Amino acid sequence: MEKKNIDWGNLGFAYMQTDKRYVSLYKDGKWDDGVLTEDATIQMNECACVLQYAQTCFEGLKAYTTENGHIVCFRPDLNAERMSDTCKRLEMPVFPVERFVDAVAQVVKANEAYVPPYGSGATLYIRPYMFGSDAIIGVKPANEYQFRVFCTPVGPYFKGGAKPITIRVSDVDRAAPHGTGHIKAGLNYAMSLYNIVDAHNKGFDENMYLDPATRTKVEETGGANFLFVTKDNKIVTPKSPSILPSITRRSLVYVAKEYLGLEVEEREVYFDEVKDFAECGLCGTAAVISPVGKINDHGKEICFPSGMDDMGPVTKKLYDTLTGIQMGRIEAPEGWIKVIE
Ligand SMILES: *Cc1c(COP(=O)(O)O)cnc(C)c1O
Repeated sequence: MEKKNIDWGNLGFAYMQTDKRYVSLYKDGKWDDGVLTEDATIQMNECACVLQYAQTCFEGLKAYTTENGHIVCFRPDLNAERMSDTCKRLEMPVFPVERFVDAVAQVVKANEAYVPPYGSGATLYIRPYMFGSDAIIGVKPANEYQFRVFCTPVGPYFKGGAKPITIRVSDVDRAAPHGTGHIKAGLNYAMSLYNIVDAHNKGFDENMYLDPATRTKVEETGGANFLFVTKDNKIVTPKSPSILPSITRRSLVYVAKEYLGLEVEEREVYFDEVKDFAECGLCGTAAVISPVGKINDHGKEICFPSGMDDMGPVTKKLYDTLTGIQMGRIEAPEGWIKVIE
């Protein structure tokens, strides 16, 4: 297989159309067999439920080339399970976990020429998603759905090293108490767009959302979970029913305990405690860990001792171990790495 002529090291995080994508249709109460198609365009009725009532959800994961030349995905079964949970909350039909994993594998295989080579820092980003596709005008769930998976090569998240970012405490909430913060629904993102544009306009990289009920506890950013390190090297990560359960964060917690022998606390984290932490990072598929150097709370700055030049030492160790596992340099826990044959 010959790789596409792509400047892997200089790719950004943008959509590039690849050769094949997977489509399965849900109708009359069941999913069809699903196919790979070259057609990247979707045609549907003007009154499709997704267009009127935002009945849509998604997942995100990556495929990459390991040190010994295998193409692999990282824990795709967890994405499948999370999408099942999301679908239940949105009154959408569940796409079976094994079929989800198989669809991802088919798409990666069919677009092998777009999987970046080992060492390039680039990866193949995979986007499974589902939406209600038939015409719905009275408010209710759709009767017909499409489950799709496409992929696009994306560049190294950190070009020239991971520079710590500056975030601000948000005055806008991401998720309502007892709402949809714990599921990966497009609607959570639609309402966050105003706030991220506003943050960027004011010179901040991300928004730190507090718990919407009391505004005293740390939740997450628009697309990543928090992980803190205490001055005595304990890992602390917020626990809340309105946080999206990040697969990266759950994997890092395991790595911290089982590989690095660190103590981990998953608990409510009060914003008042944040100033006492030594390091702060954002966990998600895109960056694995993005170090936070500074938090701006309405003009008052919290500056972490790790500073604005480099990742903190514990964050770095976590980052190196998890990326080492993903790239095949460090032995992975059983079931974490799905080899695409
Ligand atoms: C997807 C997402 C994350 C990160 O989850 P990963 O599984 O680690 O990629 C975190 N927060 C929100 C709100 C998300 O949508």
